[in-house]
Amino acid sequence: MNNIPDIIIAVDGNSSTGKSTFAKMVASEFGFLYLDSGAMYRGVTLAGLEAGVIADGKIDEAALLPVMEPLNLHFRREEGATKLFLGERCIEKEIRGWEVSQYVSPASAIPQVRNWVDNKLHAFAAGGRVIMDGRDIGTTVFPNAELKIFMTADPAVRAQRRYEELLQKGEKTTLEEVQENLKDRDYRDSHRPTSPLRQAPDAYVLDNTHMTLHEELVWTLGLLQGKFGILESPGLSC
Ligand code: C5P
Repeated sequence: MNNIPDIIIAVDGNSSTGKSTFAKMVASEFGFLYLDSGAMYRGVTLAGLEAGVIADGKIDEAALLPVMEPLNLHFRREEGATKLFLGERCIEKEIRGWEVSQYVSPASAIPQVRNWVDNKLHAFAAGGRVIMDGRDIGTTVFPNAELKIFMTADPAVRAQRRYEELLQKGEKTTLEEVQENLKDRDYRDSHRPTSPLRQAPDAYVLDNTHMTLHEELVWTLGLLQGKFGILESPGLSC
């Protein structure tokens, strides 16, 4: 469907609500660039772990900042997917691992880290026609985004989805650990002083607890048609 204008779509919500799967699907269906803001926070966290400034349950904030500043973190399209690179190295797999997940919320609560990531995100999205997912996209990064979606799902369903995803990747963890990690990240993300996770007042809520991906796409299409007065009814690819 090509008559959707070159807008910015902001997708926010708690961890493991299916934001990235949803945003990738919308991007491919409607020809948008997909940008995963969480990947940037994960990339900074990975670099901190590798530099040894994040270790033993602690983040050495003062030491993390000079590690972060020169990082060449960027996205590249490869084999039909957008992947995060650190220089020439694809770090897509490492940033999704268990260790990064443990530290990413406290690392992303550091105001200088948020500022650094926000500047990068603005630069990446400068061409427009972007769908970006995260925690503060509709409230802080792009408060004027033309379409804002806030995703939510039942916590038990979210934990089960994330657990299965980690098992598929060969990570050794338990459902209880995953539940704890999600609870911890939800709490930290919504209680930090800088850009806490909030539903923007003008966001549309998408609760996908009992929805298939196709239903999410139909919901989005209806929203786009209603909001932008598009009457054409295209065939959806999934
Ligand atoms: O989306 P994902 O779970 O990969 O994000 C990892 C972490 O990065 C989140 O738990 C959150 O702490 C942080 N984050 C954030 N703001 C964003 C995106 C992610 O604080 N816009």
